[in-house]
Amino acid sequence: MSSPPPSRSLHRLIYASRQNLSPETAQDQVAAIIATSIRNNRGVAVTGLLLVHDGWFLQALEGPYQAVMRTYGRIVADPRHVDPHVIAAGPAEEREFGDWNMCARHIGIADDAILATLGQRADFRPTDFTPVAALRLLTAVRGIQQRTEADAVSDPPA
Ligand code: FAD
Repeated sequence: MSSPPPSRSLHRLIYASRQNLSPETAQDQVAAIIATSIRNNRGVAVTGLLLVHDGWFLQALEGPYQAVMRTYGRIVADPRHVDPHVIAAGPAEEREFGDWNMCARHIGIADDAILATLGQRADFRPTDFTPVAALRLLTAVRGIQQRTEADAVSDPPA
């Protein structure tokens, strides 16, 4: 049996799952997940991005191997989603989501171009993504998120 990588090496795991949220409270439930994630991930140097779209979650987790695996171990047991499917898991050279202990993004109409680029506008099925496509989508979403935050800072309300 192969031994796990050294505890300080950077690991990235990307998975997709189906939301199991009641429609009336879905936004509050996602907000609660993010609040818990920020609190927990900060303490164990895990960063990432959670994409919430069309009944799906697509999440990247990165950080020390043990911390990522422990975090994912809790996540898979969570009843707020079902059928978690690991798309990619392995060593990473550097963090792609270093700014966020966790951040959620709902894809809106304005973001359709991202999905169109990936040929995913009509039928979003992240479990069919290749590891490269999943990371490309999440990093594209990260770019939008960063620009949105920059705009909010540089363009304060009158
Ligand atoms: P608490 O938040 O105090 O929760 C205690 C217990 O109650 C846990 O078992 C939890 O699963 C359960 N629980 C809490 N609220 C609800 C609810 N509304 N409905 C049903 N059960 C509930 N956690 C992280 O630490 N990092 C992450 O990056 C992360 N990402 C997540 C992504 C998704 C898509 C989902 C669904 C969950 C994610 N979580 C994440 C939450 C994770 O599944 C655990 O709930 C959390 O890590 C437990 O943290 P805690 O021990 O501080 O417990």
